[in-house]
Amino acid sequence: MARTIEIVDVGPRDGLQSEPEILPTSTKLELIQRLVDAGLRRIEVASFVNPKRVPQMADAEAVMAGLPKVPGVQYVGLVLNRKGFERALAAGCTEVGLVATATDSFGERNQGATIEENIRNVEEIAPLAREAGVRMQVTVSVAFGCPFEGEVPAARVVDVCQRLAATQPLEIAIADTIGVAVPSQVTALVEQVRAAIGDVALRCHFHNTRNTAVANAYAAVLAGVKTLDASVGGVGGCPFAPNATGNVGTEDLVYMLSRAGYDTGIDLNKLITTAKWLGEQRGKPVPSMVSKAGGFPASPAR
Ligand code: MG
Repeated sequence: MARTIEIVDVGPRDGLQSEPEILPTSTKLELIQRLVDAGLRRIEVASFVNPKRVPQMADAEAVMAGLPKVPGVQYVGLVLNRKGFERALAAGCTEVGLVATATDSFGERNQGATIEENIRNVEEIAPLAREAGVRMQVTVSVAFGCPFEGEVPAARVVDVCQRLAATQPLEIAIADTIGVAVPSQVTALVEQVRAAIGDVALRCHFHNTRNTAVANAYAAVLAGVKTLDASVGGVGGCPFAPNATGNVGTEDLVYMLSRAGYDTGIDLNKLITTAKWLGEQRGKPVPSMVSKAGGFPASPAR
C-alpha cells in the first residue's frame, strides 16, 4: 500500500511574500481555489505581520474572509507574536504557524527577535491557541545553515526543537530557509530532532536554491517525515536572506513522490496548469521544473 505524504502548499504566503508586484486579493483567492481543486488540503494563505514590512501580506484579513469553505481543508496563517496571533484569531484562522529560529542573527533580521525571544513568543501563544481551539505549529528557520552565521550546530537545532516541543505544538518544522542542505544532513538532523521531540510530528521545509530540494525531500521521507512544505511553481524566497530563491515546487515534489510510490492526493496536471497560470499572473514564468517539462508518462489531453 502506498504511503501517504501530506504536502502543505505555502505558495499563497511564503511563495508570494517576496513577489515585487502586489497581487490583487482576488488573484490570491483564485490561486487558493485552484490549489484546493488540485487536491491540496493544507495551504498557508496569509501572514499577520506588520504590513509596512511585508506589503504583499497587507490584505491578510481580506484573504481570510474570501477563502473557499471546503470540509477537510485547513488554512494556515503565519504569526510572529501575540499581536499577530490576535489578528489571526479575529480573522477566523483555525491553524496558526509560528516561527522560531536556529540563529540569533537571522532571527533579529527576519523576525526582530532572538532565538530566546522567539521561543518565549511560542510559549506565550501556545496556551492561548489551545484555549481558542486553534491548531498551532512552529517552524524553525535556518535549521540547516544561516546566511549570516554559516554552519548551524545540529545540537542547537535539537535544543530549540526540544524546548518548542514542550509547548505541545501540533507539529514542528525544520526549514532550510536559504537552500544549503544536502540529503545526508537531512537524514542526520531529522533523526536527531525526532529523538528529541517525542510525539510531536516533524515537518520539513526545503528551498531549491542550490538544486538539492527534491533530494532533501526524499531523504526526509525515507527518514520517516510525513509532511513536507512546497510552493506551487516553486515561487518564493526570503526577503531577508540574500539570494534565497524559491521554495521547492509542489509539482516537482508531487511528481517525484508519486513516481516513487507515495500518495499525495494531488492531481499533478491541475497543479501544472495552476503553476503556469501563476506565471501569467506574475508576468514571468515560475521556476519549478515539472511545470515546464510536464509529468511522465504523459497523460491524455483533456
Ligand atoms: Mg520558504
